[in-house]
Amino acid sequence: MKNFDKQHLLHPYAPSVPASDMQFVKSAVGVYLELEDGERVIDGMSSWWSAIHGYNVAELNAAAKRQLSKMSHVMFGGLTHEPAIKLAQTLLSITDESLVHIFFSDSGSVSVEVALKMAFEYYSSQNIPNKTKILAFRNGYHGDTFGAMSVCDPVTGMHTAFEGILHKNIFADAPVCMFTDKWDEKYIEDFKRKLQANHSEIAAVILEPVVQGAGGMNIYSPEFVRRVAELCREYEVLFILDEIATGFGRTGKLFAYEYAGIAPDILCVGKALTGGYISLAATLTSKKVMQGVEANHNILMHGPTFMANPLACAVANASLELLLASPWQERVNKIERQLEYELSRCQELEIVKEVRVLGAIGVVELYKDVDLVWMTPEFIKRGVWVRPFLRLVYIMPPFVIKESELTHLTNAIYEVIEAFATSLEV
Ligand SMILES: *Cc1c(COP(=O)(O)O)cnc(C)c1O
Repeated sequence: MKNFDKQHLLHPYAPSVPASDMQFVKSAVGVYLELEDGERVIDGMSSWWSAIHGYNVAELNAAAKRQLSKMSHVMFGGLTHEPAIKLAQTLLSITDESLVHIFFSDSGSVSVEVALKMAFEYYSSQNIPNKTKILAFRNGYHGDTFGAMSVCDPVTGMHTAFEGILHKNIFADAPVCMFTDKWDEKYIEDFKRKLQANHSEIAAVILEPVVQGAGGMNIYSPEFVRRVAELCREYEVLFILDEIATGFGRTGKLFAYEYAGIAPDILCVGKALTGGYISLAATLTSKKVMQGVEANHNILMHGPTFMANPLACAVANASLELLLASPWQERVNKIERQLEYELSRCQELEIVKEVRVLGAIGVVELYKDVDLVWMTPEFIKRGVWVRPFLRLVYIMPPFVIKESELTHLTNAIYEVIEAFATSLEV
C-alpha cells in the first residue's frame, strides 16, 4: 500500500519521489492519529487548522449519517435545501450584521476566487473603469488557485513558479507591529503610500486579520487591521478579510476581526467550518457589495458543481452547534496561557529567534530553516504530529486537547528543537 503511494500519489507541495516516507494513518480519534503499527500521536496541527473538536466526534458522525440517509448531494442551481439555509442563518447571525449574503463553495481557495470576483464585478458592473488590481500584503497566504495565488506573498507564497503568468497585483509590507505593541502610524506607512498612489486602480484590499498563517505565522496588532479598514473606506476600495485559518475561535475571538472592532465588505471562511470533516467554504458579503455587483443587470458569475453540498452543510451545522454550545473561549484562553508558559522555555535555546502565541496558536521561530526529513521521525518518536515549515515550528491543536496532552506537545517541541540545534553543530 505505502509503496503504491510512493510511486503514484502526489502530496501537497512535495516532489513525486518524496524525500522520506509518508506516515500511514489508520484512524483518528480525539486528538490522536493512529499510525500504521498502532502507534498513537497527538495531532498538534488540527489537520491544518480544521479539526477543532478533534477526530471521530460523535455529534458530527451522527449529523453526517442523518444527512446521508436523506441526500448526500443535489445541485444548487434552481434547488435549495435545509442544511444550506440553516448554515447560512447561523453564519450570518455570528458575523457582522452588515454581512447579509453568502456564497458556499468547496474550498478556501475558491471562496477567495469568489471574493475577488465580487470585488472586480462590483466596479465593472457599475462601469467604474480600471479597478483591476488587488492590494495585498507580504507574508500573506490566500490559497493555491490562480486568483488566490496572485494575492499570496510573491516569495513565501510558494508560487514563484507562476510569477510570469499571474495577475500583477500590488503588495504592501507585512504588518510588523506585534499584537500588544503600542500603535504607531509608521507601521501603516507603506500600505498607506501604496493605497494613496494606486487607489484608482485598486478594487480591493485583502488581508488575513491579526494572524498571517501559511505565509509566515505572523501575529500582529489588531490596530493594523482597524487602520486598513479605515483607509479602505477613505479611498473607496473594498476590504476583503480572509478568516479561513483564523475563523471559528482559533485566535480567542470567534472571528479575528472582532479584535479590531471593524467589519469587512467581504469575508472568507473555510477550514474549521466543518470541524475538519469535509471541504466547505463560504464568502459572505454586504447588501452594498451585491447591489454594486448586480448594477446594470449583471450577476455574480460563479457556480461550482458541489456548491452548498448538503452533506458538508449538515456537518458544518453540527460543528457550529457543538462549538457555540461549548466553553470554546475558556478552552482557547486556557490553551493560550499554557502555550505562553510552556513554549517560553524554548527561548533559552540559541537557535530560537522568537516565541509567539495567540489563542490556540503557538509559534516558535528559529534562526535556521527546519529540516522536515530530520524532524518528522523525531516528533513521531516523541508521540506527536507536528509539521514545521520555513523557520517555523508551530502548533494549533484541537480546542478539546487536555492539559497533559498539550504539555506532551510543547515538551516534544522543546526537545526536538534542542536536538535539531545539536545536530547542526556536528
Ligand atoms: C488554507 C487557507 C486558504 C486556502 O484554503 P484551501 O481550502 O486550502 O483552498 C486560504 N486562505 C488562508 C488564510 C488559508 O489558511
